[in-house]
Amino acid sequence: MGNILESIQRRVMVSDGAWGTFLQKKGLRPGECPELWNVSHRQEVLDIARSYVEAGADMIETNSFGGSRFKLGKYGLADRVAELNREAAAISREAAGPDLWVMGSIGPTGKLLLMEEVIPDELYDAFREQSVALVEGGADAIVVETMTDLEEAVIAVRAAAENTAVPVFCTMTFDKLLTGEYRTMMGVSPSEMIRPLLDAGASVLGANCGNGMEGMIAIVREIRNANASVPILIHANAGIPVYRDGQTHFPESPSDMAYHVADLVHAGVNIIGGCCGTTPGHIREIRDQILKASST
Ligand SMILES: [Zn+2]
Repeated sequence: MGNILESIQRRVMVSDGAWGTFLQKKGLRPGECPELWNVSHRQEVLDIARSYVEAGADMIETNSFGGSRFKLGKYGLADRVAELNREAAAISREAAGPDLWVMGSIGPTGKLLLMEEVIPDELYDAFREQSVALVEGGADAIVVETMTDLEEAVIAVRAAAENTAVPVFCTMTFDKLLTGEYRTMMGVSPSEMIRPLLDAGASVLGANCGNGMEGMIAIVREIRNANASVPILIHANAGIPVYRDGQTHFPESPSDMAYHVADLVHAGVNIIGGCCGTTPGHIREIRDQILKASST
């Protein structure tokens, strides 16, 4: 295994795929707390982690995206942050074994600084509490993801970096504007996020969700043009979702996604995985394409 940051410099690595949409397939119903499954449906969560290990991922995330006290509080579980995050990391650690890395997932709190629903100190405390529990459970890195507000992302990265000894990754979610440029919902561009997040203590930056593989190519180019050395992590959706018969469908097959891997590698990406709608099948094909793209 060894140091994750050193390994990233040696070859393009493969991360895992979706958790949220995978849990739904396993029976998680709307209104149920996904993180509670770490104790109530432990085997199902472990099965998801194991299926990504079997698909050839180098690193596995944790079922803790909504594990902050603010998100858990919606289910009356705000006092179980430490337990549910520790267990999330322990499950992925069990699947990953000694040879793969575990990345502790931290998503947005859902509280907006802009609307004064929360103050920065409260966010910092929540992210500190969650990241410490994830590392106690066995996470080798923290990945702050799906961020749209740069200020919240900076606070999350700082809280994880200042209170744990592991590397902190951060990805934001960008949408394509009619002009062809990419911005988060709060108006942040890929290049704008770089300096503040590095200053806050992030070691790896990138994008997740919001786009399929093709849209991520321009985002990687923008980050790479602005910064030649920062490692870049991409977790793409299986295409842009379409709504049909009251259900959400992600249109891209494993080979559709894998088709863009070579361009992503040439644009300068360091880690590729999947977000919503991706499956172990997607991760397996992405891994095969990375091996091909890296050998040419
Ligand atoms: Zn997603």
